[in-house]
Amino acid sequence: MAPNVSINRIAGIDVGGTFIKSGLISGNQIITTRRDPTPSSPTEIIDTLTFIIQTLSPQLVGIGMPGLVQHGVVSHPPNLPGWSVIDLQTELRKRVNLPVFVDNDANMVTYGEFRMGAAQGLRNVILLTLGTGVGAGLIIDGQLYHGKGYAGEIGHITVEPHGYRCHCGNRGCLEAYVGTSYVIPRVKAILPYRNSLLNKYPEITMEAIATAANQGDPFATEIIDEIAYYLGIGVATLYSIFDPDAIILGGGVANIGDPFFTKVKSYATQRLYGDRNIVLLPSKLKDTAGVWGAALWAFDQYTHSFGE
Ligand SMILES: [Zn+2]
Repeated sequence: MAPNVSINRIAGIDVGGTFIKSGLISGNQIITTRRDPTPSSPTEIIDTLTFIIQTLSPQLVGIGMPGLVQHGVVSHPPNLPGWSVIDLQTELRKRVNLPVFVDNDANMVTYGEFRMGAAQGLRNVILLTLGTGVGAGLIIDGQLYHGKGYAGEIGHITVEPHGYRCHCGNRGCLEAYVGTSYVIPRVKAILPYRNSLLNKYPEITMEAIATAANQGDPFATEIIDEIAYYLGIGVATLYSIFDPDAIILGGGVANIGDPFFTKVKSYATQRLYGDRNIVLLPSKLKDTAGVWGAALWAFDQYTHSFGE
């Protein structure tokens, strides 16, 4: 089968715990976007993906899935109940009769930023998405790096050996210090005992904490500072191992912008051997990075696998 050089309709799909975001990419544009609620069972999710693909009517499909993904087999995605191990790539190829490529969602976000966003033109890049947990991906020598399949679980590097318990079962993971699903409950537990502007907020979110910190609230500043401190340890570790061109930071906490980046950089620099210039860049594609990444990953895999 020769490569289809006229591919100009690629579906990019980003499966999250709440929504399935998708888009049809043609040329350098997303021409259609969708946002479908993520159903509760694996069977319904596969049915929904089939429906989305048939509706978008692409020639090629790329999908980012949460959890561990190896050769299109998706294992134990943290936010999709009932899903143990499913060969999603093979199943969808059968159902839609199209080339379908499935990889990890954070890898796809990273690939999107690498091909179209903040990391365009760079060769060695690490992306960290700071959300409820920490998503991460690695580009080494211009290639997405998988290791034996599961590389990039940066959220679970240890930053405090006897620290907070992580959902993975370990203690002191980076994620347990910067992920909102860990930070927010701790903040809520302490808040009644602290004199803070945050007591006036109806809901405690990372945005609320950032706003209060910008207004000079000492408690909110402490929280942001702690996140920057532990993220700085992680960034220093990553620079020691990979010496990347840049680390891209996306997600809620990163949206605070410059003051936060400066803090992280300062904590990282203190721990780094040698005179090194740490480059931290904000993500550029934001919400669409996963859709772009999945589509372009599929395109590059497809053209590569046919030796083009
Ligand atoms: Zn962990």
